[in-house]
Amino acid sequence: MIKKLSIAIAMMATFGCSKQPEQTHSVNKAPENTFVSAQPDQAQAVVHNGSAEDSVAAQITQELKPVQDIRLLELKSGESLANLLSRFAFSDRDSWLVEQAVSAWTSLTKLKAGQLIEAELVDGQVQQIRFEYAFAQVIEIKRVDEHWHASLSELETVTQTKRLSTSIDSSFFVDASKIGVPNDIINQSIVALSHLVDFQREVYAGDQIDFVFQEQQLVAAEGILKQISKPIELQHVALLSGKEKYRLYRFTDNGGTTAFYHPDGTLAQSFLMKTPLNGARLSSNFGKRHHPVLGYTRMHKGIDFGAPVGTPIMAAGSGKVLKAGWGGSFGNRVVLDHGKGYQTLYAHLNGFANSLEVGMRVKQGDVIGYLGNTGLSQARHLHYEVHKDGKAINPLTLKQPKNTKLSDTQFDEFSAQVAQITTLLDSENAKLAHHDGQSGSMGSADD
Ligand SMILES: [Zn+2]
Repeated sequence: MIKKLSIAIAMMATFGCSKQPEQTHSVNKAPENTFVSAQPDQAQAVVHNGSAEDSVAAQITQELKPVQDIRLLELKSGESLANLLSRFAFSDRDSWLVEQAVSAWTSLTKLKAGQLIEAELVDGQVQQIRFEYAFAQVIEIKRVDEHWHASLSELETVTQTKRLSTSIDSSFFVDASKIGVPNDIINQSIVALSHLVDFQREVYAGDQIDFVFQEQQLVAAEGILKQISKPIELQHVALLSGKEKYRLYRFTDNGGTTAFYHPDGTLAQSFLMKTPLNGARLSSNFGKRHHPVLGYTRMHKGIDFGAPVGTPIMAAGSGKVLKAGWGGSFGNRVVLDHGKGYQTLYAHLNGFANSLEVGMRVKQGDVIGYLGNTGLSQARHLHYEVHKDGKAINPLTLKQPKNTKLSDTQFDEFSAQVAQITTLLDSENAKLAHHDGQSGSMGSADD
């Protein structure tokens, strides 16, 4: 016992210098021991000094096998790891040592209520602790003598292409979310479509939406893991709305620039975005399909977007800040100059983006301010105007300059990608046809 203690003290002195992360850099390869829960022959360097007593004890242990018990525990609000594990012979000192051991990655104080902790007990004492650190990453802390060793394992994942589709019933965001499209993918879709679609006036109940995206999925799920998949990127989004059909495909050109393109290879970006704020936050007040020009009239020279106060407002196009301040009945307003005689105005803002100054240049999509209810405004909304040569024009009917098209060689590459997605959509549609009577949602909405 005394000997063991002195070993522990000696180890304490060098503590912390062997704590290099055992992280592998290849995403799809897991270290071999990833899923293996401690096996007797892997137990690390337990010091036996060859005394007869010890080896007999070891043999007995081998034969009887220590009483192993794996518990899945959930951290409650205000509870520390030490509290949670105190009934399993886990002392404050253990907690302190574990804190040191995991310090290369995190701190135990960062564990929040709801975090799942796997504790492996041997004869009632915690020998190993595991918890999810990030998607497909698990921190594992093992007791070795009086000491704790931590390592980070990357779990094996596969990249999957997923297709989900539905029709709009309440709003683009809500309905996509309902069938399990991850928020990040919905947002990427809305940003891509915002160039072409006014999300408040040009999205109708019954419109079809299609998503093709890639996600990383765990090969094997485990009890402690809350996240079993992670979205990577949107590859295709379609919004089929009456006569207007938008099918957009992600493509990275020779220069390494990634953007969305129409099937004919033209860039699916507009000079001025049609929805200059986060479309996810718009409550669609579905317009009637035959009266698409809701909002803009000779009397009302702009269009209004109703969304929560504080919704970020984006520069509809790249340009220069002409005005940023109080504008009488417009309240807080921003005016941008986009060249070629075009200007845009954003009124009734709650406030401006921190760095915004008159004279500075902004890029399309940059946040310039936040939606509010200032000036002569009866309810929170963004009032948006587009001017051409000093006259207000209807943003919904604004003719967009022709966009650049992919070169022939790039178009061939792009077409091959489009064909792959089309094949996927067709095969999924064929599968759907077999499930008659079922809803249009596909795949599992398991996250
Ligand atoms: Zn207005």
